[in-house]
Amino acid sequence: MLSAKQIRDGFIDFFKDKGHEFVPSSPIVLIGDETLLFANAGMNQFKDIFLGLVSPDYTRAVNSQKCLRVSGKHNDLEEVGKDTYHHTFFEMLGNWSFDDYFKREAIEWAWELLTGVWGIEPGRLWATVFAGDKADNLPRDDEAAKLWTKVTSIPADRVLAFGKKDNFWEMGDTGPCGPCSEIHIDLGPDMCDKKKVPGHKCGVNSGCGRFIELWNLVFIQYNRTDKGELLDLGAKYVDTGAGLERIAAVLQNKKSNYDTDLFMPIINRIAEITGHKYTARINNDTDNAFRVITDHIRSLVFAITDGATPSNEGRGYVIRRILRRASRFGRKLEMHEPFIYKLVPVVVDCLGDAFGEIKERADFVSTVIESEEAGFGRTLDRGIEIFTEAAERAAKTPERTMSGDDAFQLYDTYGFPLDLTELMAEERGLKVDTSKFNELMEGQRERARAAQKFPISDFRFPISDLPVTEDVHKYKTESCDSRIAGFVDSDGFKKTGQIKSGSEVGVVLDKTCFYAEAGGQAGDCGTIESEGGKFIVEDTAKIANCVIHQGRMTEGTFEVGDRVKATVSKDRDATKKNHTATHLLQWALQQVLGKSVAQQGSYVGPDYLRFDFTHPKAPTAEQLKDVENKVREKITEDSPVTCVVMPKDKAQKLGAMALFGEKYEKDVRVIGIGVGSEGQITEAFSKEFCGGTHVDRIGSIGGFKIIKEESISAGVRRITALTGDGLTKYLEERNNIVDELSVMLKVPFEALVGRVVQLLEDNKKLTKQLKSAVRQAGSDTMAEAKQLLERCEKIGDSHIITGRLSITSVEQGREAIDMLKKKAKSAAIVLGFKDDENKATLLAGMTDDLIKKGLKAGDIVKVIAPIIDGGGGGRPQMAQAGGKKTEKIDEALAKATKVIKEKLADAQ
Ligand code: ATP
Ligand code: MG
Repeated sequence: MLSAKQIRDGFIDFFKDKGHEFVPSSPIVLIGDETLLFANAGMNQFKDIFLGLVSPDYTRAVNSQKCLRVSGKHNDLEEVGKDTYHHTFFEMLGNWSFDDYFKREAIEWAWELLTGVWGIEPGRLWATVFAGDKADNLPRDDEAAKLWTKVTSIPADRVLAFGKKDNFWEMGDTGPCGPCSEIHIDLGPDMCDKKKVPGHKCGVNSGCGRFIELWNLVFIQYNRTDKGELLDLGAKYVDTGAGLERIAAVLQNKKSNYDTDLFMPIINRIAEITGHKYTARINNDTDNAFRVITDHIRSLVFAITDGATPSNEGRGYVIRRILRRASRFGRKLEMHEPFIYKLVPVVVDCLGDAFGEIKERADFVSTVIESEEAGFGRTLDRGIEIFTEAAERAAKTPERTMSGDDAFQLYDTYGFPLDLTELMAEERGLKVDTSKFNELMEGQRERARAAQKFPISDFRFPISDLPVTEDVHKYKTESCDSRIAGFVDSDGFKKTGQIKSGSEVGVVLDKTCFYAEAGGQAGDCGTIESEGGKFIVEDTAKIANCVIHQGRMTEGTFEVGDRVKATVSKDRDATKKNHTATHLLQWALQQVLGKSVAQQGSYVGPDYLRFDFTHPKAPTAEQLKDVENKVREKITEDSPVTCVVMPKDKAQKLGAMALFGEKYEKDVRVIGIGVGSEGQITEAFSKEFCGGTHVDRIGSIGGFKIIKEESISAGVRRITALTGDGLTKYLEERNNIVDELSVMLKVPFEALVGRVVQLLEDNKKLTKQLKSAVRQAGSDTMAEAKQLLERCEKIGDSHIITGRLSITSVEQGREAIDMLKKKAKSAAIVLGFKDDENKATLLAGMTDDLIKKGLKAGDIVKVIAPIIDGGGGGRPQMAQAGGKKTEKIDEALAKATKVIKEKLADAQ
């Protein structure tokens, strides 16, 4: 029986023998292609060839592409686990012809491999061809239909024709397209999972598990224009895709992909960890959980390896969703603690030989998964409670539908992806109001978008319209003469016309010295000027091979065709220093922390540099100092920087560091530090694949300082550092603060720390003293007030408490009144004191029983305030007056006693 590895190798060797060049899989995370979150078919990496943007060095290729179908047009997430042949991650084996052979060979060889080499019984195979489409004016693919019976042994009645949905392939709304021919296998009547569906008849494309598609042969021969017309492409391409997992199931005689050696080791490990048994039943919750987790861990390992770490947006969010889904299914196997990360080594065992990158990054991947699992585990249980409440409400609605608001709350607060909520709802026979959910999501996105500036990726136009810009000048000069080739606005690319004053567009030149944002290095800023106008470039980006200068026409106008002078801003020098320093930093980090350090991302701009790298824990302060010193030593040595363009293989052999997962062209630029000529590149102490701009000698970097080190996600650290003028500016600002402090504290700067330490200590002591003094004063006041109470006159049960206190604040006076009211129960109180500004203050308080009898604090204060030459008033319960004549306080208090007595007497 063939192992999966033998099947993969067999496919590749078969086509190599037929003159195909093996092209390694592109990373699953497509760096530089924002139109697609993940590779989802073999053709992704050849897209620019089909579009005619680049021409390959080979005309025939063979590969095994890592694919992820979890988002966008191809999303098989819902199928996973429920059927036995759709995965989120799978390998697509493919053979390619770039204007070389066409339908005949593609059909003949596919048949030869399946039936001849692999020995699949021809009687089990079916073929399909395109039936044509009248509405779309697409002809039937008679050529393929004839070839099937001519070059293979398949009988004519097993070649079926299907419509556009199944058998016509298009890359997008416009561009290359063509008919396809699929090969399906009949797995036998037992495999039908739709027996109970009324009217179901097993057959090709009937949607049951008996007939499944193994291999799709796409024949690209047309080009669809933006008017919808189909033109002859002028070239003929073959693009095929066969699912390795499905072929393995057939060749290993298994009923399910999960029973093959690609999945069984993972399933067995889950059984070991969880103590549950896998029994391979469809429609069984436990078995389903096994399959989902097995499927998802493969996706996680590949996506995280290639650089997508869990986060709240884009790719990162898709990864987070997959992991959370797997975690949720773990609950079905009674797993409440992180365990999915423990499956990483098994996946590496299964696939590490074919994809060495997952071996290299296994530790990192485990760290990331474990920390995500732990984080989600904490909210999952609470989220499940909230879900249950929402589900109970939903069950009472006539439509048995959970509200979009509930689903959104689960998403927003508990991190439940919509598909997870839907799945959990489905288990209870409930639906979810997804349109309301999407509306709420859109609102949130809208708010996020509003905060962002207009991104170039939002320009919608066929990229095949864009001209190629000659931009080698970016490495050589800061200024060049060129011609305006066109411009881009929100409608698309314009080859003619005027750029009006004030308009915000993207200018395209025939040649440019501007560096377009790439590899972490920020796009250049600068100016484009002619006699007739001036354009300020705020950012530079590249789409396909076209450089777009984004910015604003600040003076005059440009016509397409105008001669102009493009000048890069001086900031570029600072960017160069930061870029070369980033290479030094990576080198030093590897020296100090070891080989676990791999670049995960970077930002290099004129202002600062930022370097993200993998490392399981925070570097210590000494390690960071060590790194800084190593970089500085190198800067002092002032060695030269050399750039060599060489074939990729050669660069790899040299040990040049590449960004993990990045797909490089055949020829790459290698930046070597420490050597002065191309011939010595092997001896450079730092060698990196890099397309950025660099200084000629590292002495000019001028200085280096790490200003921040932090963690940005599990296993990933970030260092922010400064060089050159940026560093000088930073140090100057700090120095100014030190100078100011020195003046303020009246000590030289060396004594500043000592002085501040002393001040802090004094402060601590004083605070303590003050607190106890306040406490003391408080109890003194209360004692004084109590004495007033003891000595006071009474009329009936009511106390007339008047007198002086040795306090200075109204606050203390109020506290005393509150205390007296409580103690005396029925009282009219007037207190007098001098405040801290030496003003006479009178405070009056009245208990409620006396207020009912007509005595009011406010009234009393009004009568006595003039005595101290002041004014005042307040509420019946509490009133206050302030005045200048402190010597009259006692007189005022005496008057108060008299007034209260009279009023009380009246009231009796
Ligand atoms: P299906 O109709 O079975 O979903 P498809 O039409 O989406 O297949 P293609 O896009 O033509 O498939 O992909 C080419 C081949 O890749 C298929 O013939 C199949 O063998 C395999 N394949 C496609 N999707 C998956 C998947 N989700 N899991 C595993 N293999 C897949
Ligand atoms: Mg599909």
